[in-house]
Amino acid sequence: AKRVGGAGFALFEDGMVVDAALQLTLQSDLRGALDRGQFELYYQPKIDARKNVVTGVEALVRWNHPTRGVVGPQEFIPTAERSGLIVRLGRWVLDEACRQIADWQSQGRDLNVAVNLSVIQLADASLLDDVRESLARHNVPASRLLCEVTESLLLENTQATARTLVGLRALGVHLSVDDFGTGYSNLTQLKDLPARQLKIDRTFIQELETRSEARAVVASVIQLAHALHLTVVAEGVETAGQRDLLKAMGCDELQGYFYARPMQAAMMQSWSIDAPLA
Ligand code: C2E
Ligand code: CA
Ligand code: CA
Ligand code: CA
Repeated sequence: AKRVGGAGFALFEDGMVVDAALQLTLQSDLRGALDRGQFELYYQPKIDARKNVVTGVEALVRWNHPTRGVVGPQEFIPTAERSGLIVRLGRWVLDEACRQIADWQSQGRDLNVAVNLSVIQLADASLLDDVRESLARHNVPASRLLCEVTESLLLENTQATARTLVGLRALGVHLSVDDFGTGYSNLTQLKDLPARQLKIDRTFIQELETRSEARAVVASVIQLAHALHLTVVAEGVETAGQRDLLKAMGCDELQGYFYARPMQAAMMQSWSIDAPLA
């Protein structure tokens, strides 16, 4: 059977049909990676647009592959979801994020951490218990944790998903609507969500400086979100020009390569917006 090689991996990213043997290899590799502790969370800061300080970080999973090096989530999350392994991986991500919050706290660094939740996890009945247990195990207040859920996923809005979202909110965990603008949700659906934050998808931010249409969309999304008492984060901010436009539009938080790429926990411990390379 074909091995999942360097070139083979690119197939996943392009969304091409991947043959079954390749899928199975990746699945068992992922299972082994979980057992061997080969996953690591990287952290990317979110910046308060007005005060110019770090408000928190988003945890983004990486696979430290023994031969391939650092592998990004887009190359393995889809397979993890298809195989159901995402439930175990997601559980690890949640627990590791809580452990890291406590670790930073003990070093005098108070950071809120956002984790990404998959649709499969939200439909899983054990998620609420997992979150509760991880918070308790590491003695972390729920308000320190934020769950990012994609807009398209929220639109599916099955009963199980809705129950989980309400349950998370009841625990005191905050919710963020990720990739906003890509899922065609309407006002009514947004106002019914127990969310506190909305993240504007990177595709809109990319076009801010070149297309007036993108500026109009972003400006109205910010107004809409504020009317619904949601804070707005722009993801994928790469230039000073984008930052300036977003600040002028009243965007609350900014995240992107302009400020920092996702980094290892030890780097984040000492990262500051005034001395980003310290
Ligand atoms: P996302 O949640 O939309 O995360 C944002 C992605 O954009 C991240 O890619 C981040 O590294 C990247 N990014 C941040 N700033 C910039 C920028 O200025 N320019 C550009 N071009 N990209 C930027 P990453 O880390 O490869 O993650 C990709 C996706 O994988 C995430 O998209 C999320 O959907 C998923 N993911 C990551 N970690 C997890 C996880 O622990 N669990 C689950 N279920 N999904 C995860
Ligand atoms: Ca996210
Ligand atoms: Ca996003
Ligand atoms: Ca995205």
